[in-house]
Amino acid sequence: MKICRFSYENRSEYGIIEGGMIYPVNGLPYDKIEKDGRCIPLESVRLLAPCEPTKIVAIGKNYAAHAAEMKEGQPEEPLLFLKPNTCVVGHEDEVVYPSLSKRLDYEGELGVVIGKKCRNVTPEQVNDVIFGYTCLNDVTARDIQKGDMQWTRGKGFDTFCPIGPHIETELDASCLKIETRLNGETKQSSFTNMMTHDIAKQICYITQVMTLLPGDVIATGTPEGIGSMQIGDVVEVELEGIGVLRNHIVGD
Ligand code: MG
Repeated sequence: MKICRFSYENRSEYGIIEGGMIYPVNGLPYDKIEKDGRCIPLESVRLLAPCEPTKIVAIGKNYAAHAAEMKEGQPEEPLLFLKPNTCVVGHEDEVVYPSLSKRLDYEGELGVVIGKKCRNVTPEQVNDVIFGYTCLNDVTARDIQKGDMQWTRGKGFDTFCPIGPHIETELDASCLKIETRLNGETKQSSFTNMMTHDIAKQICYITQVMTLLPGDVIATGTPEGIGSMQIGDVVEVELEGIGVLRNHIVGD
């Protein structure tokens, strides 16, 4: 099932996408998904980021080939960092190139959307707490990230976490093709089975530390091929079985 969030007649709502139409649902989609009886053409709404996370937990250097291109070793355990929820934008939204930075990078990633409040998740419980999967761009001010002792500034600017276009709830995400394109040219191309720490390991590890809430998002790490973007560029992250997330780089 494809779950989206959209804006229509000045209201933000969740809905199901089916055959070019949106079927709005009552309330949040996490506990039960109940159509409210309306049916709206997809082209007459504006898609929003498909969830409203309280936090984005991201995994650093989770593909060996990416850690190698950064000339850094691979962490033995998942390397966690947070992006604030004020980073989140949706499909076709603008990503703002901050004038504080001289190098703005894309990082195409698989996003995992949590469906249940959870803590200390065991490997057997992992599938039960995952709501679905989406495309994500872990936008990074690389010069600021490298200059600081940690990554809050470099990863935390407003608009630095495009998510979307929707959440796919019925998918085996263990081996999906992932591709990032800049102005139509393929820059990153890999498969999610190349992750060092798989999704189950990530969720167990994160929830030893913090509670995850419905709508929270895990950014599962980026494959090799990272690079910079310029004002005017169009960046796309595509995940097999989910779709294409497209964003536009603008100045601040
Ligand atoms: Mg990343």
